[in-house]
Amino acid sequence: MSLHMTLGDITLHRIIEDQSALMPIRDFLPNLSQEVLDAHRDWLAGSGALDPSNDHIVLCFQSYVIKTPHHTILVDSCLGNHKNRPNRPRWHQKTDDHYMTALAKAGISVEEIDYVMCTHLHVDHVGWNTRLENGVWVPTFPNARYLFSNQEYAYWEERSRTEAIDHIIDSVLPIVHLGRADLIESSGAVNDHVRLLPTPGHTIDHFAVTLGAKRDDAVIIGDLFHSPIQMKYPDLFMRLDYDGVQSTQSRQSFLQRYGDTSTLCCTAHFPSPSMGHIKSSPSGYFCEMI
Ligand SMILES: [Zn+2]
Repeated sequence: MSLHMTLGDITLHRIIEDQSALMPIRDFLPNLSQEVLDAHRDWLAGSGALDPSNDHIVLCFQSYVIKTPHHTILVDSCLGNHKNRPNRPRWHQKTDDHYMTALAKAGISVEEIDYVMCTHLHVDHVGWNTRLENGVWVPTFPNARYLFSNQEYAYWEERSRTEAIDHIIDSVLPIVHLGRADLIESSGAVNDHVRLLPTPGHTIDHFAVTLGAKRDDAVIIGDLFHSPIQMKYPDLFMRLDYDGVQSTQSRQSFLQRYGDTSTLCCTAHFPSPSMGHIKSSPSGYFCEMI
């Protein structure tokens, strides 16, 4: 399995931190019926996205690094180390070297990242924004500007005034307070190769990232879809979706936009190889993995 590929004058790398079974898929996708799960268990398990022994959803946790002719851009910064995550034992105060080793193996240094983009501000997409140094959270990527949706940031900043939200406190607010964040529109562009595509619903202003000089050669979808079964049934929302009706609309319009095109769909959470092309069929859409 290759962890990098070339798309025109862009190179795309996957930086994998973890891949693991999380929880029963019917808890994760609350409107997935037992009947539909039973009908699709075999191919889901075959794709690696389901552990058939206990019907737990299997998720990959990874960043994408995009090298364009002018910039090196990291999309979604995964889980991070030394973070207080008491509700997630696997992520709580972890100290493994998976992420930094994967970055080094790809030949990418933390210094060369020009931009860090977070598709949304959930715990598994912001973790490596910061690292712990002498008891202080500092930017992991010392030369990067961090791009957050202004609407998304405003929502979490407001919530964190009345709630202690660990991942906002340790991985988002320090970046903003150090003046390293740019709050942007979720419909803007970073450069002539990298654009944002609003895909709200999972969070208030979730965005996807499209890549290519003249057309969308690839799209990094963040948490628009968590499981391949949502491509066949885009009305399956995720348990933490901010607005499940809106996320369904975002999934449907995304499938119509990219179905049966040459655009490579790069998912955050589908198990390796995590990337594929969206195809239509009489029974719905599916992702033909590469
Ligand atoms: Zn996620």
